[in-house]
Amino acid sequence: MKIEDMILTPDEAFEKYSANPVDIAIIGGGPAGYSAAINARTRGRSALILSADYKNSYLFRAGIIDNMPGMPGISGADLLESLREHALSMGAEETRAQVLMVMPMPIDEKKTIFQVAFGTNIISANTVILSTGVSAFKAFEGEERFLGRGVSYCATCDGMLYRNKSVAIIAKAADALEEARHLKKIGCKVHFFASAADMKKWFSDIQEGEFDGLITAASYIIEGETGLSGVKADGKSYPVDGVFILRASIAPTTLAPGIELIDNYIRTDRSQATSIQGMYAAGDCTGKPLQIAKALGEGLVAALSADAHITAVYK
Ligand SMILES: Cc1cc2nc3c(=O)[nH]c(=O)nc-3n(C[C@H](O)[C@H](O)[C@H](O)COP(=O)(O)OP(=O)(O)OC[C@H]3O[C@@H](n4cnc5c(N)ncnc54)[C@H](O)[C@@H]3O)c2cc1C
Repeated sequence: MKIEDMILTPDEAFEKYSANPVDIAIIGGGPAGYSAAINARTRGRSALILSADYKNSYLFRAGIIDNMPGMPGISGADLLESLREHALSMGAEETRAQVLMVMPMPIDEKKTIFQVAFGTNIISANTVILSTGVSAFKAFEGEERFLGRGVSYCATCDGMLYRNKSVAIIAKAADALEEARHLKKIGCKVHFFASAADMKKWFSDIQEGEFDGLITAASYIIEGETGLSGVKADGKSYPVDGVFILRASIAPTTLAPGIELIDNYIRTDRSQATSIQGMYAAGDCTGKPLQIAKALGEGLVAALSADAHITAVYK
């Protein structure tokens, strides 16, 4: 199987899986997600990995891994590429997308179909595996208050609401620059905010005058009384109509409303089942130790459990 053929654009994924559910939707391309995909395929299940740029995976940033059983000294990037190629060569499909929400739609007592929302698309899935890694962030002051009322996590989905208006992008994900360009292209006035380290990384790619402001800052407050009025960055206020906060991950409770947590991690049992029927979780998002071998093992268990669930409920 050719790897390139297994990569679907968001529109292709929508066409294929909006009416006919994929067996297992895997949210997050890291070791847990790719392990789940490999094992879903060994059971003959269709598996679609929906992931933001897989280079956001913690593993991609790890240098040399010394405790990977049987692979001493492998680099994190090589291991991740190899897991990805393995999963896709076994017939798992992948779509590059930031998943915004997973909504369970109960059909009857046993059956639940999931609606997985990304960009402006929604696909259906019989089961879902969350393998989103740790969401190591604290929401900014004002973020939750104005979420959906001026604060957005997705430029592709909400950009048109801000056409000809002034927006701030708080860039904390690898694809933030691309998203900022999208907003600019559709006619927004874009003020691009990033940490000093990230700005240094992106600076050489940004053309002079490409954005309406380039601001380096470390702390943010989303401001407003009854409605959002702007963003305060390192103590200075910038009036804008909308704020796009682009992180590599989304809090599990925003992604899957109602999901139970324990110590801020997704609660699972030994079959990796979450508190939502038909939804499983694996890897760093379920808690410590935050390690590759655990992520791989939990991905395997989650896939086998999803397979058993489908067998029990559907076939
Ligand atoms: C510098 C560093 C060194 C490390 N060294 C080691 C080591 O030596 N040994 C070891 O065992 N472990 C090490 N780790 C830890 C290891 O990398 C993690 O435990 C492992 O990557 C966890 O895998 P995961 O699949 O759970 O999550 P991740 O690898 O973080 O992957 C999660 C993926 O999900 C994507 N995602 C998140 N939310 C969404 C969403 N809403 N929609 C779409 N995609 C989403 C992310 O972009 C990411 O690609 C290290 C980590 C770091 C940062």
